[in-house]
Amino acid sequence: MDAGGVSKKDLSTAILERKKAPNRLLADDGEGSVPLDNSTVALSPTSIEQLGIYKGDLVLLRGKRRRETVCYAVADPSCPEGRVRLGRGVRGNLGVKLGDVVSVNRRLDVPNGARVQVTPFEDSMEGISGDLFDAYLKPYFRDYLRPLCKGDTFLVRGNMRAVEFKVVETEPGDCVIVAPDTAVFCDGAAPVKREDEERLDGPGYDDVGGVRKQLAQIRELVELPLRHPKLFQTLGVKPPKGILLYGPPGTGKTLLARAIASESGAHFVVVNGPEIMSKMAGESEENLRKVFADAEANTPAIVFMDEIDAIAPNRDKTHGEVERRVVSQLLTLMDGLQPRAQVVVIGATNRPNSLDPALRRFGRFDRELDIGVPDEVGRLEILRIHSKDMPLDDDVDLERIGKDTHGFVGADLAALCSEAALQLIREKMDVIDVEEETIGVDVLNSLRICNAHLKHAMEV
Ligand code: ADP
Repeated sequence: MDAGGVSKKDLSTAILERKKAPNRLLADDGEGSVPLDNSTVALSPTSIEQLGIYKGDLVLLRGKRRRETVCYAVADPSCPEGRVRLGRGVRGNLGVKLGDVVSVNRRLDVPNGARVQVTPFEDSMEGISGDLFDAYLKPYFRDYLRPLCKGDTFLVRGNMRAVEFKVVETEPGDCVIVAPDTAVFCDGAAPVKREDEERLDGPGYDDVGGVRKQLAQIRELVELPLRHPKLFQTLGVKPPKGILLYGPPGTGKTLLARAIASESGAHFVVVNGPEIMSKMAGESEENLRKVFADAEANTPAIVFMDEIDAIAPNRDKTHGEVERRVVSQLLTLMDGLQPRAQVVVIGATNRPNSLDPALRRFGRFDRELDIGVPDEVGRLEILRIHSKDMPLDDDVDLERIGKDTHGFVGADLAALCSEAALQLIREKMDVIDVEEETIGVDVLNSLRICNAHLKHAMEV
């Protein structure tokens, strides 16, 4: 056999094999049928088998820029093949976004830690004083034997507040398991968050409730073309330039757009319809041009136009000269966006029919998604999201509240949760010293939101 031929063949398939390697998986979100946390990731049962992982095994995950972390791997039948489900914290530690490649390998030799030093991020500590160790770290590490790697950050949801920590030092080695005899120190100067770490603070898909179907559609329409424009070019299809979200105020349209931007790492520019309108000749158009220029200079980008009906009302029905000019400017800007530009415009309105029809034609806002008032299941999802950082008493029945809040939109349910917390604070004014700069963790720890607080909030 011709040796050259053989080596050629080997080389060509080597690339394919590398791609197909069962341990190279694409990052997916943490919203599967198995709940995930900072220390657990989920794989499809096929991947679990291919990688020879047993229940309780640790895996070494490798993401971008050689960033690594160690987690437990569990099987999740709802995890698509070729994907690994990661919570936001783990994605942050690996420096990956959804769709990025993560390599996953079984890791057997993680030693029990002798010593671990963590330190809270300064900004997540604002307004809290006292012993974080007892209030946050002790319960966190008591749950189970958590692996920690030097450089990781992790968010601990405590009473009323979530605090984010950074792992400064681990011994022996850079990855350890925190066992009962591991000495955990919580001290040192609190670091300031770096910008790329900050991005994880934006809302994620798990912060939006009751819009499962719409979320899937919008991800397909926006995330895919923003992240993989080549895919669309290759297939000769034009990704959508504009998407219209319509529904009553407070249903989460802005939240949804922000979540898409932060999860896909896109630059996010907001245009508020009524605000951008100016009576000064030419100023509104100039504002719009600046917004589009900003987006095009920072691709991939999402331009979010809230209350777009104020910018682009039906030209036949409006007498305002400014509106007419602004509508045509917007049409020009959208038509001028190259299909390859990686800019998607998302418009939000409560009154889709009052928009200028030219905007809703092919090549402009040609996709429309109805973000309606949530039903009972949606309301429960939203209540869970907004109460996830709250210490709920055992008597709280969120399902009941979901049933009793017919007609509430997401913003109402968020307000309901804050009002319940405020009511609790009012009750506790005798133990909270308003004169103090900070509140002790022991006081925070004693707070519990009960059904009565939520009931009260529903009546306000
Ligand atoms: P819209 O843009 O539709 O007027 P927003 O996205 O501004 O609504 O919603 C305001 C706030 O209400 C959000 O920041 C969030 O706290 C809450 N909220 C609204 N809808 C939802 C939802 N579907 N899931 C979770 N929270 C929601």
